[in-house]
Amino acid sequence: MVINPDPPKKAMVVFAHPDDPDFSVAGTVAVWTQAGSEVVYVLCTSGNVGSHEPGMTRERIAALREVEQRAAAAAVGVKEVIFLHHDDGTLQPTLELRRELVREMRRFRPNVLVCGDPVAFLYGDSYINHPDHRAAAQAALEAVFPAVSMPLVFPDLLQEGFEPHRVNEVWVTDSTTTNTYVDISQVVDRKIAALRCHTSQMENWDPTEMVKKWATETGQEVGLPMAEGYRRMILAREEPPTVEASNESPG
Ligand SMILES: [Zn+2]
Repeated sequence: MVINPDPPKKAMVVFAHPDDPDFSVAGTVAVWTQAGSEVVYVLCTSGNVGSHEPGMTRERIAALREVEQRAAAAAVGVKEVIFLHHDDGTLQPTLELRRELVREMRRFRPNVLVCGDPVAFLYGDSYINHPDHRAAAQAALEAVFPAVSMPLVFPDLLQEGFEPHRVNEVWVTDSTTTNTYVDISQVVDRKIAALRCHTSQMENWDPTEMVKKWATETGQEVGLPMAEGYRRMILAREEPPTVEASNESPG
């Protein structure tokens, strides 16, 4: 069990929808950016079906939700948000999505990749995980291993100048096997402020009580006042293997 490991130099956070990072990891992101980490968000969709308002169009709700997500990101110190503009509700972990994520990882070159849990299907006795969440998580992990580090996968990316890169660590949120906790008690108000930016989704709902309840429950697992938990995986040696050393194919 690890509590508050050193913040990464650069972290990339990949999720399906605007508001996903804010429900799950925005506290950790606030801690990291406050410590000087550079963090970017990659959203696979712009949430273009996320409205029940009569007369709303997919284009208008997507544009609105992008504005909301950029504000939410700014509230926790994230300077860049990338939208891949897949359709909300029908996201699939395709090779196209994997390639797009490899391109963003090779461009930004994160040390840590943060994403959801692709095998988390059922939570408790009342929540089925959104299929888009699983798809985004699967695509992100399939981009991390092994595609992002292999020059001959997606050779067109190499031709465009996106050099291979190794991601050192993966942090999976909402996992059933949590091994790492980040104390968010000093930044919980910033997490709540980020969530409040999603006005098209929240309407008059105040997330304060729920956020504090979740964070308190997670913190209690390890004696912290409020925390976010992860399954942290340390993947990569710092240096890529030489040609001579790479007889073993990663399969
Ligand atoms: Zn979502």
